[in-house]
Amino acid sequence: MSLLEDYIRDLKEIVNFDSGTGNAAGVTRAAGIMQRHYESIGFKAELVDLGDEVGRGMLAVNKPGAAHYDVLLNAHLDTVFPDGTAAERPFRLEGDRITGPGCMDCKGGVMAFYYALKTLPRETLDRLSIAVACNPDEETGSKNSHEWLSELAKKSSCALVGEPGRPNNALIRSRKGIEGYIVNFTGRAAHAGNNPEKGRDANLAMMRFTLEAVKLNDMPAGVSVCATLVKGGTIQNSISDTAEVYFDTRFKTDEQGAALDRAMRALAAKSWGENIGVTLRTDHSRPAMPYSELSRPIVEKISEAARKAGFEPLWADAGGGSDASYMARAGIPAVDGCGPAGGGAHSKNEYLLVNTIEQRIAMIRNFLVSL
Ligand SMILES: [Zn+2]
Repeated sequence: MSLLEDYIRDLKEIVNFDSGTGNAAGVTRAAGIMQRHYESIGFKAELVDLGDEVGRGMLAVNKPGAAHYDVLLNAHLDTVFPDGTAAERPFRLEGDRITGPGCMDCKGGVMAFYYALKTLPRETLDRLSIAVACNPDEETGSKNSHEWLSELAKKSSCALVGEPGRPNNALIRSRKGIEGYIVNFTGRAAHAGNNPEKGRDANLAMMRFTLEAVKLNDMPAGVSVCATLVKGGTIQNSISDTAEVYFDTRFKTDEQGAALDRAMRALAAKSWGENIGVTLRTDHSRPAMPYSELSRPIVEKISEAARKAGFEPLWADAGGGSDASYMARAGIPAVDGCGPAGGGAHSKNEYLLVNTIEQRIAMIRNFLVSL
């Protein structure tokens, strides 16, 4: 069998069972399969307990006991799909596309790292200290795994993250940071017909607040503040005594994120109406991964590795978050989007482009050889 056929067979195995983040047993099953693969090529591989609410992580190293890794390869094992999806629309290869839950995000990348290492020249494998970390909970914000990943990153010189590449051959050199804010308003209910003046309108306070908060958009450029969820009131004929708004905010650097955080908290400390209570809490944060002097040499090395693999990479600055941001915060350069390319992530339209599989494996391998 060719390398591509082997890859497709092994990818099929880890796509064809449910492994949504909440399905700890399914994610652990994927971790166990990858552990078996890495042991088969002489790596020391172990399952890592990151808490009962998530599946196991998987760590594979080629130099057991090493205090330092020349490179950390990270891709996640979990998907966004509920139980039953694998049976409903299993792995399928049709023409130039593979479909099935998580085939691209991120099982394709999980398997690409393995095949790059499986086919790495012996000399490179002997020379480099390599760690592969597959985490179980990326899709819900890596709450249980980000500290583990950060610790591994601190011991590493650089990192590649195996999220899927884009169909136009773009890899990702920077990502925005994310902070979610949940702002609650409390007022006083009153009958909207008989005595509306006795009410304290939490909905109105929430709307006023929201109109002010979105003025923080592009202050400075690259910062975004979006009111993505709002809810308020309990019944149509009463002044609302509760309201809540969720802000998805993004920023290019952690300094921008800190300034935005101060501005959001200052807004929450202001009065939004007589006897209106306001509380603000944060949710789902990720640091920013800026494109910097630190990451430039790695970006150039990957570009060269891609050219040798037969394609000219483009470089995207992404608005979405991934675990690459934790590598950046740990102070090491990281490149993301190193997995085979595709589209339709997080939907039933997800697909992996078959003709990018061998290219990406070769790119990763070329990069490792160049270290
Ligand atoms: Zn992903």
